[in-house]
Amino acid sequence: MSKKKSKTKSKKTAKPKAKSQLRQELATGDWVVIATGRGRRPFDPSKIEPAWTEAEIAEQSRDCPFCEPEKSSQEEDVLIYKTVDDDWSLRIFPNKFPAFNRPLGGRIVEQKEGPYTKMDSVGYHELIVTKNHHNNLGKMESLRVAEVLDAYQTRYLDLMNKKSVNYVEIFYNHGKRAGGSIYHPHSQLIAFPIISPYIQLELDGVERYYKKHKRCVYCTMLEHELESGDRIIYENDDFVVFCPFASRAAFEVWVMPRSHSPYFERILDEEKITGGKALSEALRRIDKVLGDPAYNFYLHTAPCDGKDYKHYHWHIEILPKTSVWAGFELSTGIEISTVEPEVASKKLREVSPTLSKIIKDLQ
Ligand SMILES: [Zn+2]
Ligand SMILES: [Zn+2]
Ligand SMILES: [Zn+2]
Repeated sequence: MSKKKSKTKSKKTAKPKAKSQLRQELATGDWVVIATGRGRRPFDPSKIEPAWTEAEIAEQSRDCPFCEPEKSSQEEDVLIYKTVDDDWSLRIFPNKFPAFNRPLGGRIVEQKEGPYTKMDSVGYHELIVTKNHHNNLGKMESLRVAEVLDAYQTRYLDLMNKKSVNYVEIFYNHGKRAGGSIYHPHSQLIAFPIISPYIQLELDGVERYYKKHKRCVYCTMLEHELESGDRIIYENDDFVVFCPFASRAAFEVWVMPRSHSPYFERILDEEKITGGKALSEALRRIDKVLGDPAYNFYLHTAPCDGKDYKHYHWHIEILPKTSVWAGFELSTGIEISTVEPEVASKKLREVSPTLSKIIKDLQ
């Protein structure tokens, strides 16, 4: 019906629709603007810059430091995954240029400088590198993604008990425009002493919601999303992939376990398979709909500082680089998304996730 109406109206006489909307994120209480109304140019996926340009790929493919890490004076591996042919499929080694220095022992204490607080920036900064130079996480077989999740868990379990570690952040930068400096696919893990403000915001929100409603805010969110189906992209036995109601960027996607679990590190073997499939589906679909855009994804899980976080619910957030944060976003903390999550999820749901170009790396 609405289609017919819009056809009969000429462009000049059509009344502007006030389609912009403020939406509040259920856990954190953050507000976003979904601005799709007049005055904003319609979103055009073909205008999104690719993760890497051809020239950048060519440049990064000469003397890649991660194709043969042993030849590029990387630090010694902390873990290697091997194939049946005794070749490596994934390896983990400390970052040569760490944001956090490895602790020398002893307790980390806060120091004062006038009214300010500071402490030594200690922690563990590791790189999780997969073998194939071109097959990023959105292009590899989902079983390979499951292996990456297994690597995350293995390192997490090792680092979480270190004295100076209270939080383990795991993230992946895809593309120069997402902050990537090396083209060869790799995730990063930083285990450090503080709980980041963003996680704290989620933790506070979870407790606030629990006090009021006696249930997990993310379970509530998931239940509603599954019931309405408006923003669902993909689901399997253990995971649901959807665009969040209050998306901070166009085509933001979350991957969330169906069953309530605060702690990623307790993921079961079969969940790594279904979780790898869910993450792979999400990344492939983003890749296809937006034409290999730059994106970041990261894992949000309960801190490992010994406190009880039983009301938290771990998840993965994927943020494609579909916009640039300008003055308004920086000054207010309110992001503007130019595509409704309902429209984005429909596109992502309907696209075929088959890979157009895959380099077989399972042999
Ligand atoms: Zn490489
Ligand atoms: Zn939950
Ligand atoms: Zn989160």
